Amino acid sequence: MIPFLDLGAATAELRTEIDAAISRVVASGRYLLGEETEAFESEFAAFAGQAHGVSVGSGYDAIEFALRAAGVAPGDEVIVPSHTFVATWLAVRAVGAVPVPVEPVTPWLGIAAAEVASAVTPRTTAVVPVHMHGHVADVRGIREVADRHGLVVIEDAAQAHGATADGQPIGRWAHATTYSFYPAKNLGALGDGGAVLTDDAALAHRIRSLRNYGSPEKYRHDVFGRNSRLDELQAAVLRVKLTRLADWNGRRQGIAALYARRLAELQDRGWARLPADNARTESSWHLYSILVDGRDTVAADLRRRGVQTGIHYPVPVHLTPAFADLGMARGSLPVAERIADTTLSLPIGPQLSVADAERVARTLVEVSES
Ligand SMILES: *Cc1c(COP(=O)(O)O)cnc(C)c1O
Repeated sequence: MIPFLDLGAATAELRTEIDAAISRVVASGRYLLGEETEAFESEFAAFAGQAHGVSVGSGYDAIEFALRAAGVAPGDEVIVPSHTFVATWLAVRAVGAVPVPVEPVTPWLGIAAAEVASAVTPRTTAVVPVHMHGHVADVRGIREVADRHGLVVIEDAAQAHGATADGQPIGRWAHATTYSFYPAKNLGALGDGGAVLTDDAALAHRIRSLRNYGSPEKYRHDVFGRNSRLDELQAAVLRVKLTRLADWNGRRQGIAALYARRLAELQDRGWARLPADNARTESSWHLYSILVDGRDTVAADLRRRGVQTGIHYPVPVHLTPAFADLGMARGSLPVAERIADTTLSLPIGPQLSVADAERVARTLVEVSES
């Protein structure tokens, strides 16, 4: 069976360095908010060309804290994509704001600036574009809309570590960019973790305090904060993995290019739609998700033939019970619903061999002809 993602293989490739990093922390006697965390924050910020990095406990917390630090308040409206992971909407809800969904044009383009502009009301205070599957959304265009209306832009880059636009790292157009280090992400810890990157020193300072009991310094508690810290062990592991991020993203791009070549005929025949980057952006290829009718049958056929796949995600956020009170029935967000019904993620990961990727493609072509 070719696994959808082999996290064990990723760790094994770096095992010696990861073991050394862990031993270093264990021996240090310092387990939270120490040198490893500080070093990782500045190394990751430098990697993405941002001035400040603040690590937190998860990608979800990164979005919530960025919104709160930017002044988003209960009752505000926050524009979000209809097609995203549930955490984007939950984080909006966590600050007491109302998620206002906008439909993407395709699963690969994210939400468009014009659509965002149409969703703005006098209560809107923020927009959270998401780089779904690693494909770079038009944050630059969205920022123009945001500036016209005085909105903040918090970019959810949980799937887009190392993605670029116009040859530069993402992040330049948002007020803050949020990341997750959930193990399966492009830059993944051996547990939970997250970070906010920003060029705004005041915003970074507020998030630093929110993650640590609202405390800018010991024994002072200025705002209602929480405990949401990346620990020294995870920071040390992430420092090792950060040195491989560009290389590993390159391997993902290679697999995506291979799939694009081998599966083009499926798109030509109208059997499936393939993901694509536009000319100005470079995806981090967190996922390689096609759209195909009869998705569940296709996934079962692939599994029978030895290929494991994933679904991201089978239920659109507005139809999850957690958001039932928004009263968005089936039919209210048809693009998100169609994506949820037809999306199928093929194996893609730095440790997937070219031979296995070839086999995945060959097997999918066989399934399409059966
Ligand atoms: C993974 C993910 C998150 C949440 O990250 P956690 O670290 O799991 O909290 C948020 N948004 C998107 C788009 C994600 O893929």
